Amino acid sequence: MIVSPARQRYVEVIIDSAVRDLDRPFTYSVPEDAGEDVGIGSMVLVPFSGRLALGYVVGLPSTSEYDGIKSIARVLDEPPLFDFDSQRLCRWIAGHYLCPLSQAFKLVMPPGRGRKVKQFVYLTGSGNTLCAGSALGEAILAALGEAGGEMSLDALKKKFGAGDAAAEVGQLESDGSVERKFGLTRPAASAKSRLVVRATEAGRADGALDKLPARQRDILDELLTRGGIEFQSDLLAHSGASGASLKSLAGKEMVEVAGEEVLRSPWVGSHEDATRHHPNPAQQHAIDSISGAIKSGGHRVFLLDGVTGSGKTEVYIRAIETALSKGRGAIVLVPEISLTPQTVERFESRFPGQVAVLHSRLGPGERFDQWRGVREGRYRVVVGARSALFAPVSNLGIIAIDEEHEPSYKSDTSPRYHARDVAAVRAKMAGAVLVLGSATPSFESIERARAGAYERLELPGRIDNRPMPDVELVDMREVGGAGEVPLLSRPMLGALSRTVSAGDQAILFLNRRGFANYMQCRSCGEIMGCDECEVSLCYHSRGHMMLCHHCGKRWAVPEVCPVCGAGPMKQYGAGTQRVEEEVLKHLPGVRTIRMDADTTTTKDAHWHLLGSFRAGEAQILIGTQMIAKGLDIPGVTLVGVINADTALALPDFRASERTYQLLTQVSGRAGRGLRPGHVVIQTFNPEHPAIRSITEGIEPFVEAEIRSRSNAFYPPFVDLVNITVTSPEMISASRSAERLRKILDTDLDGTGAIVLGPAPAPLSRLRGVYRWHILVKSAALELISDRLIGSIGRFYDYARTSPAGKEVKIAMDVDPVSLL
Ligand code: ADP
Ligand code: ZN
Repeated sequence: MIVSPARQRYVEVIIDSAVRDLDRPFTYSVPEDAGEDVGIGSMVLVPFSGRLALGYVVGLPSTSEYDGIKSIARVLDEPPLFDFDSQRLCRWIAGHYLCPLSQAFKLVMPPGRGRKVKQFVYLTGSGNTLCAGSALGEAILAALGEAGGEMSLDALKKKFGAGDAAAEVGQLESDGSVERKFGLTRPAASAKSRLVVRATEAGRADGALDKLPARQRDILDELLTRGGIEFQSDLLAHSGASGASLKSLAGKEMVEVAGEEVLRSPWVGSHEDATRHHPNPAQQHAIDSISGAIKSGGHRVFLLDGVTGSGKTEVYIRAIETALSKGRGAIVLVPEISLTPQTVERFESRFPGQVAVLHSRLGPGERFDQWRGVREGRYRVVVGARSALFAPVSNLGIIAIDEEHEPSYKSDTSPRYHARDVAAVRAKMAGAVLVLGSATPSFESIERARAGAYERLELPGRIDNRPMPDVELVDMREVGGAGEVPLLSRPMLGALSRTVSAGDQAILFLNRRGFANYMQCRSCGEIMGCDECEVSLCYHSRGHMMLCHHCGKRWAVPEVCPVCGAGPMKQYGAGTQRVEEEVLKHLPGVRTIRMDADTTTTKDAHWHLLGSFRAGEAQILIGTQMIAKGLDIPGVTLVGVINADTALALPDFRASERTYQLLTQVSGRAGRGLRPGHVVIQTFNPEHPAIRSITEGIEPFVEAEIRSRSNAFYPPFVDLVNITVTSPEMISASRSAERLRKILDTDLDGTGAIVLGPAPAPLSRLRGVYRWHILVKSAALELISDRLIGSIGRFYDYARTSPAGKEVKIAMDVDPVSLL
């Protein structure tokens, strides 16, 4: 017999590491006995610079030009973690958001299946019998014995103190009592199996029961009445019999006992509202457009612009029905805060048994099972928060993103991806349709629709023609005369008092962030802004000055307003507590609930407070932005906005956009029941386009805002990268930021990119760390991304050799949604 030499096989492996220098494939050979198990997306253990490391297979070259290639140590016995399409998406994410590929892989991997390589300490044969020379040694040997002879070094350090345990383990190792090896941690989640009992043919045969002793007969009888199959634990509990009796029964081959996987499900649906509404004409038009696109099988993006309560969800559901009928799957993203049981219920009732739910409140086992159910094709509709975008839905036909303007779709940890933008890429790769829904679309999406890249669909009115609330603007410059401006104007107090006497409920909204102090003219309402950056200035009581948090420019606080020359400048920022005091002063005896960061520190406080307001236990709810969204309380007929200007004053180019979104969303809270709603907005800037858009329609505002973004080079007209330089040392943070700026100036020269800063971040010190910002604007990120990564590398080379660079860290946020 002739044995042919085995064909040598190779794999390209990405090492699981956040270190940028390692962010490239390394080639390994595959030992013959690894069989067919290794493929794209396999998790492997490989030797790497003197130790073992985890890696992910990204390529299967048939030859390699390198000599001395090492062999992989082990293929982990998992199905591949991701497929070729996921890998393609990850490559886009790593390229765009400037993160290592191995970090992007974490997004598409099965949840809870991540592993780590650690040092493990094992008892040797002699370690079981030998005594250690010290008390600590004895204790460590005992702990190892109890743990089955094996513990991670980290676990021992935790138990016995880092330095002591490490030294003692070294001693035990030289005595020959223990050995150290690299090993893998266990995954956080695993498939769960339960023992299932099945009646065999013999057990089902006529008269089978008669031949059995009483206990065994009880078991079989119970099993047969339950259809011949039952979990072992339930069967024993119901029949009152023992495991031994069951064993005897199995010995007679009347039943079979086997482990079977079960799927943990995070919720039990009640299938209430399965109503299939007859779409109104606007809904029908939207449904036809989206369904038509799905049927034709090409990639399209729709912007579904419809006020809250206009029936957008019904449109998503109908479009998903079309996708499913074509054998294609669906993903629906909603903001975490609105991912309530009611939301999930609406989808589950229309697609019974086909819906997987993915969000952060699931346990690791539940999460894993939902994910697995999607991968195995049991669930064809995924409903979830941001990261559900990466669910392994095969043959994807539609992605719907509700409230697409929500900043929470941007991840605040690396990879700092924006689910809306990644969804567009995934949908394109899959030939799927993307539907972006919102009552207040982002300016990026509005502009893309204007430019023709997205198709705009409108749902102009509420279902059943329920009226939108009427809005009253109160010009605060005319309130209070020359004296102190009251917190609550006369129209506001009047509306509050009428609402309360009518037995209705009111919401008072105050959007205030702790640090966002700004200077405003008492007379003309002018808010001090930077002359180069078109953002408002932050007032710093330390040094009594104003600072631009984009470019770092400083201003002295003027005596009188530089615009009107008349009014004194005043620092603004009032808290919810003061609002409550004022309300109680004017409406004694009224019951209020205050909802802000101070009253919602405990886990369920948020729901608890809302629950008691909904139950009518208070007439006025006073709160910060946490009450702006998703609230649907029929008793609320009045919404009052204490100061519409606070959001305008945020040091961010999106301040106007956020203002219009916030005001529209809070206004939408009024009049959701049968009685019409009323909204009172107090402002010093009644002429500001963002504020006028609430009463006069959004078009002029959109025009003005798009023009100003285009002129000042802001998204969607340029790509932004916000670079944060942090250090626990004040001086090293600022010097490092200066240094990085110099490196960027050299590296980006000739690319047309604009570099702003460094400036202290608005949150200039966070958890003891000093933060500086550099903002890079580029016509197209892909022109500069390689250079940016090079600059960061060069910066770290400098930081390693310089005392000032110690402990300095750099984070890059591409397409930032917040510049804080
Ligand atoms: P949105 O998602 O735009 O806020 P929803 O889809 O939640 O709006 O619709 C608001 C309410 O109107 C829901 O209770 C929904 O069941 C109902 N609804 C939706 N479409 C119709 C329709 N065509 N006829 C009657 N009721 C509808
Ligand atoms: Zn500036």
